[in-house]
Amino acid sequence: MTERVVIVGAGQAGGRLAAILRKQGWEGGITLLGDEFDPPYERPPLSKEVLADDADPLVGRLFPDTFYQEQEIALLLARSAASLDPVAKRIQVGHENLDYGTLVLATGARARRLACEGADLPGIFLLRNTEDARGLRPRLQPGAHVVLIGGGFIGLEGAASARKRGCMVTVLEAQPQLLGRVADPAVAEVIQNLHRAKGVEIRCGAQLEAFEGHGRLQAVRLTDGTRIPAEIAVVGIGAVPNQELAVAAGIDCDNGIVVDAATRTSAPDVLAIGDVTAQSHAWLGARVRLESWENAELQAQAAANTILGRPAAAVGAPWFWTDQFDLNLQILGGRCPHDRVVSRGNPADGPWCHFFLKDERIVTACLGNAGRERRAVKQLMDSRAPVEPAALADPGTSLRSLVPKA
Ligand SMILES: Cc1cc2nc3c(=O)[nH]c(=O)nc-3n(C[C@H](O)[C@H](O)[C@H](O)COP(=O)(O)OP(=O)(O)OC[C@H]3O[C@@H](n4cnc5c(N)ncnc54)[C@H](O)[C@@H]3O)c2cc1C
Repeated sequence: MTERVVIVGAGQAGGRLAAILRKQGWEGGITLLGDEFDPPYERPPLSKEVLADDADPLVGRLFPDTFYQEQEIALLLARSAASLDPVAKRIQVGHENLDYGTLVLATGARARRLACEGADLPGIFLLRNTEDARGLRPRLQPGAHVVLIGGGFIGLEGAASARKRGCMVTVLEAQPQLLGRVADPAVAEVIQNLHRAKGVEIRCGAQLEAFEGHGRLQAVRLTDGTRIPAEIAVVGIGAVPNQELAVAAGIDCDNGIVVDAATRTSAPDVLAIGDVTAQSHAWLGARVRLESWENAELQAQAAANTILGRPAAAVGAPWFWTDQFDLNLQILGGRCPHDRVVSRGNPADGPWCHFFLKDERIVTACLGNAGRERRAVKQLMDSRAPVEPAALADPGTSLRSLVPKA
């Protein structure tokens, strides 16, 4: 058996796994293969400081360039895995075959594209990688008309960044509210009010029909006939898992590569981690595909545990954050059914929290500029302990004091 771990996808999850394996004692070979030109990096800054300020697009790089050689990690960039044979335990990369002892699919997700008329006009961008950010940033000139298609995190962060650069910004959201997949209407309203106050035009219930222009983008047309002038459009309508390798190899996929808590797929010695996975999530009690920084970190550690023969760690409430203008929003849990909403603080005058409770337990928490409460809220949610709504609502009661003692 080849004692080599081959990781396909040199993004956040893949890069982190390679490093954890070395740090935690894996002595076999490690190959980290990625189809981008850049070494592994974290993506969150791309829609924030990289677009809004002039941060280096690789500000989120995981490790210095010398790290991989020092750690004896064979980093192969700008190379794509074309196929996978789980019986022969081999992947094909160009004209070469790479044998593995354990294969880890960390291929992430790609930005979903639009297929409407004019969708290939110059001036239309996606925002997934450093190349996208490098192409988009110089186009965000003061006074430029920028339309963000999609009122999710990428669209709203892109809107905030473009506005900070002095662009005239419109967000188009097809659903009746922003952030429909993840946030309650009350939280979506706070975000909408913030954007409007900063001069972003928000149009919910807006159905895009076509991009218009001669040789370059000039306008966006809606199904109701409205024409919005635009030199730049950014399409942020969600992401599609890069699961094709797994599908072609006969591995179970269902909007992502299906994995268990130990990141095992349906094929022996093939694991999968990060945005590409559909995992049975013990805390949520459902199969979900999580696209978040935290999930990439946790599944990288979970895969390392499996490879090193250690048990899987317990999984708690998922966590995600977004930064838009001067708002830092942290969301814990999922958009689960709830029977009570408790508010603590007020968005108009400082940090605030909205807690969504089901049977006296917090199932979702949204923290606005209240990041220092995240640890306590997460512990409270992970414990699944019942909470007293009056105590939650009272800013005079420390949230930490509500966490049950271990
Ligand atoms: C602009 C942006 C902002 C974000 N902001 C936040 C945030 O604020 N908070 C948060 O929690 N999360 C945020 N996220 C989400 C977070 O970045 C992702 O969840 C995380 O990057 C997932 O890591 P991953 O390794 O699974 O996937 P990726 O980082 O996408 O890495 C997958 C890699 O695999 C490569 N690949 C795919 N197929 C192949 C193949 N066949 N062969 C070789 N290589 C292949 C891909 O090109 C890519 O380089 C953001 C994402 C984006 C795009």
